[in-house]
Amino acid sequence: FEPAGPRPIKKLTKDVINQIAAAEIIHRPANAIKELLENSLDAGSTSIKITVKDGGLKLLQITDNGSGINKTDLPLLCERYATSKLQKFEDLQQLGTYGFRGEALASISYCSHVEVVTKTKHDGCGWKAHYQDGHLIPAKPGVPADPRPTAANDGTVITAEDLFYNMPLRKRAFKSPSDEYNRILDIVTKYAVHNPHVAWTCKKAGTSLPEVSTPADSTAKANIANLYTPSLANELLEVPLAVLQPEHKLSAKCKGWVSNANSNWARKGGWLLFINNRLVDSSKIRKAIDALYTAYLPKGASPWVYLRQIDPAKIDVNVHPTKSEVHFLNEDEMVDGIVSAVQTALAGANVSRSFTVQT
Ligand code: ADP
Ligand code: MG
Repeated sequence: FEPAGPRPIKKLTKDVINQIAAAEIIHRPANAIKELLENSLDAGSTSIKITVKDGGLKLLQITDNGSGINKTDLPLLCERYATSKLQKFEDLQQLGTYGFRGEALASISYCSHVEVVTKTKHDGCGWKAHYQDGHLIPAKPGVPADPRPTAANDGTVITAEDLFYNMPLRKRAFKSPSDEYNRILDIVTKYAVHNPHVAWTCKKAGTSLPEVSTPADSTAKANIANLYTPSLANELLEVPLAVLQPEHKLSAKCKGWVSNANSNWARKGGWLLFINNRLVDSSKIRKAIDALYTAYLPKGASPWVYLRQIDPAKIDVNVHPTKSEVHFLNEDEMVDGIVSAVQTALAGANVSRSFTVQT
């Protein structure tokens, strides 16, 4: 038996590289929705409407009233590493947008059929374009692959159909469209709480009653009452603005709302952590807050927690889009600061309650 010699090393083709990247960035329909709604927010939209079929596997459509896209930019729209948000590496230091990598639409175009209709307020008409594997493609065989004029409102409509049509293994892994729809609703709900100036809707295609529906210029608390429960919104305690690590030059600030000792938020989805406006997770913060609440809540009960943190250094933006778990410098101090801010909110509530009991 002669062991085989080494096999020759070859460069992967661009298409294979992009296909692998797409599969890493877009794990499931909810990842695509998060990228698309962040693009709509980056475009300054005040209305974002989402329509979903079969948990997003058949259809994801997002309609916004943002800036629109210039017709001349449409050929580059779905190309990987093409972005309007970043030019040089230093720009990362003061990035005010969600996006900057130019990977989301590219990835979506590598795993679904994408149609874009867009109109800027300077355009006389809208433009419609179709994409596949990063490129503009003809609307039907035999016609040029150009954007075509169309009637449209100001803003952008992006439609992604047949997600993972070319990845049969992944497609088969999704057993329940309603699970996928719930994940989409969870993301949209959290962004709606955090961006209450935007009017949000999210619904299944073919139904008239949206699961998420908020008016424009709402407040976080009104959206919590609307999208979670009115009683939760009534009982929320405000976490006072806390300066974390004031001794450090780049100290971070944290504030938010948490449920009190009477609420038992046993359902999923009661955890909203936004850092520099990004929805993220931190198992350290989560564990520390859960531990704090064990002193207040019956065993097995969980709190509802919405924390927003502002970090002037914006050092966290360079995380990979698929990584939602964040880490901090001086993490333990940071977590201690957050826990004591939440504790202040809880303790304040206890004091007022013990007074009511005495009267
Ligand atoms: P990124 O957000 O990192 O720039 P994307 O692939 O998500 O990359 O989007 C590429 C570009 O397409 C954006 O930089 C933006 O210029 C444009 N774009 C995408 N979605 C929208 C939208 N809804 N409204 C206006 N422009 C958009
Ligand atoms: Mg983006």
